[in-house]
Amino acid sequence: MTKPFSKQDAEIFFARLRAAIPEPKTELHFVNPYTLLVAVVLSAQATDKGVNKATQPLFKVADTPAKMAALGEARLTDAIKTIGLFRNKAKNVIALSRILVERHAGEVPHEREALEALPGVGRKTANVVLNVAFGEKTMAVDTHIFRVANRTGLAPGKTPRDVEDGLLRKIPDAYLLDAHHWLILHGRYVCVARQPKCPICIVRDLCRYAHKTVADTKKSLQLRKPVKAGSARPRGKTRPPR
Ligand code: SF4
Repeated sequence: MTKPFSKQDAEIFFARLRAAIPEPKTELHFVNPYTLLVAVVLSAQATDKGVNKATQPLFKVADTPAKMAALGEARLTDAIKTIGLFRNKAKNVIALSRILVERHAGEVPHEREALEALPGVGRKTANVVLNVAFGEKTMAVDTHIFRVANRTGLAPGKTPRDVEDGLLRKIPDAYLLDAHHWLILHGRYVCVARQPKCPICIVRDLCRYAHKTVADTKKSLQLRKPVKAGSARPRGKTRPPR
């Protein structure tokens, strides 16, 4: 049986992630808590890059709930039509903007319950807003974090909520505020879904994954293959223009 991840392992794990990226940030574009909330709602089953492309111009004209409500559903739908599930998302953003104006004086509430009561806002979105906008030590478990937590053995769980609770228990307090960003970035760029980049992974020795990938020796052998006599271009000469 694999040895469970200890608190000490978790300490080393996050110390390395922090050394690699001392100040991790969300890759979503936003200018205030409201635009962060909207960006996270739009990012469900979409890439941050795709969301940013649509929100950069959108937030120039609608960066408050009142302005978004005034923009209206038809124009918002058009502005975000490149994002998956855009019709439903536009409906939710307009509805939540109206609620913020009517019940919260145009502000994003700090309370989880009030956030989760907004259309299109679930636990994960509320966790991102509480963490990024209000500095709370929450853990928003997305597909990347779910995979990394299970693969590494850091906090295995069958559901996002199991993983969230496990991570909150296991991660040392000093790392909790930024842990969500480190895990997302690690999952997005190193511990990727199909073929994790284990040979270059900085937590490889701590990771409990049984199917770690190895360096492609065939490729590196090819790179090191001796060049046949006469086939090499003379040093200092560049390829002639075509
Ligand atoms: S060693 Fe591989 S599986 Fe483990 S965390 Fe790193 S990339 Fe992911």
